[in-house]
Amino acid sequence: MPSSLDSARVAVIGGGPAGLMAAEALASHGVQVDVYDAMPSVGRKFLMAGKGGMNITHSEALEPFLGRYGSRRQQIAPLLDAFGPDALRAWLKGLGVETFVGSSGRVFPTDMKAAPMLRAWLHRLRETGVRFHMRHKWVGWDSEDGVATAAASQSSTQMLRFTTPDGEQRVTYDAVVFALGGASWPRLGSDAAWVSLMSARNVPVAPLRAANCGFDADWSPYLRERFAGRPVKSIAISLTDIDKNVHNRQGEILLTETGLEGSLIYALSAAIRERILADGDVTIALDLAPGLPLERVIAEVTRPRGSRSMSSHLQGRIGIGGVKLALLHEMLSKETFADSNRLAHAIKALPVRLTRARPIAEAISTAGGIPFEALDAHLMLKPLPGAFCAGEMLDWEAPTGGYLLTACFASGLVAGRGALAYLAAGAGLNAAGTTDASGASQPPAA
Ligand SMILES: Cc1cc2nc3c(=O)[nH]c(=O)nc-3n(C[C@H](O)[C@H](O)[C@H](O)COP(=O)(O)OP(=O)(O)OC[C@H]3O[C@@H](n4cnc5c(N)ncnc54)[C@H](O)[C@@H]3O)c2cc1C
Repeated sequence: MPSSLDSARVAVIGGGPAGLMAAEALASHGVQVDVYDAMPSVGRKFLMAGKGGMNITHSEALEPFLGRYGSRRQQIAPLLDAFGPDALRAWLKGLGVETFVGSSGRVFPTDMKAAPMLRAWLHRLRETGVRFHMRHKWVGWDSEDGVATAAASQSSTQMLRFTTPDGEQRVTYDAVVFALGGASWPRLGSDAAWVSLMSARNVPVAPLRAANCGFDADWSPYLRERFAGRPVKSIAISLTDIDKNVHNRQGEILLTETGLEGSLIYALSAAIRERILADGDVTIALDLAPGLPLERVIAEVTRPRGSRSMSSHLQGRIGIGGVKLALLHEMLSKETFADSNRLAHAIKALPVRLTRARPIAEAISTAGGIPFEALDAHLMLKPLPGAFCAGEMLDWEAPTGGYLLTACFASGLVAGRGALAYLAAGAGLNAAGTTDASGASQPPAA
């Protein structure tokens, strides 16, 4: 263990938002930080998230905000206490990045871009002495136990192995922060190879699953060929989750070659996925006319239509045509389609069977990962003292809307501060890097 924070060395493995935030927390206290990443440059998924508008957080009140983390709300709450959406916006301002609240309540940088923000951040990190080691893939620890315990200080040294373009390297650090991401979009670097490395060290890992993803439905060749890629605007979905709660949400979906995706499907993806896991499939109900009550739809559809076809009758009376009409044809028998009363009911609750989640590689984010039960309050792995974890590799999930990045930043900061507290405790220092008068170590100020 180092005798001061200035002489401490910490490896941060993974240069996404969580890892970079951990690096900042450590370097700002004088710790020598080395950031390792398997890719040629850091922040690739972060940059991808910025395509089409960098939605960095959300402006809603903390209570509903926390609700987005579902069953992990309790574990995410202290992280957002340390660094919540307002703190994130203030931090961005300090980086020279102004933000604004969009009409949906989502928060974006004024220029909507991720690249200038990442550039400014990396510049600041380098100025505080953070060193970057690209094309260094962490492939495990260098000792049988993963860590070498220094009995005198009750602390551990991390002996890490990396594959690099120059061959394998073995490096020793006083602590390590892992921020290796989930398993979605592996070509951007997060390939979840860490799962087997952690499991081999008795770190529990909940199975990684696709989150914020599309789902397959058995479309006919006709629907696939004619309508794949079409958005279905103004639609509502009703779905019963595994706990028998009924979800009703309105929004927009996209009909794809294999099924459905889009923001409304992403928002419901955890509930859909869990039903498929439990039951093998799930039938959701699409409301194709969410602005009209059932009685009105019945009245309009059953109105005499003379010689008009049912399709032009629907278009004329309630504005249903195009892809919505195609979905009705796809899901209903000829008889039902011709029966105006049954057709009206189907327009308000069209059953669509979803059979499987799209592969995790296509998903926006990952559910599953290292459970909070395996971590202490500083996000240190209980089985591996001195090793901290942050970001999407932890077992939580949230919908899109800025909630993912917010929790990644917050957990990175908490893990970085946790590593500081760990180093300070080992060296008999307080957070400022000086020996505490009482001789007891203090965690760094939040
Ligand atoms: C298309 C898309 C759009 C998104 N849009 C949004 C959005 O609008 N808002 C939002 O909040 N979130 C969004 N996200 C999600 C967000 O980008 C992620 O949640 C976030 O980047 C996760 O951060 P992280 O630091 O945990 O991991 P990552 O950003 O995945 O970073 C992990 C890093 O670890 C490195 N790594 C992995 N394994 C190793 C190893 N063995 N050795 C060395 N390095 C390794 C990887 O190369 C990578 O650089 C989007 C994601 C995608 C794919």
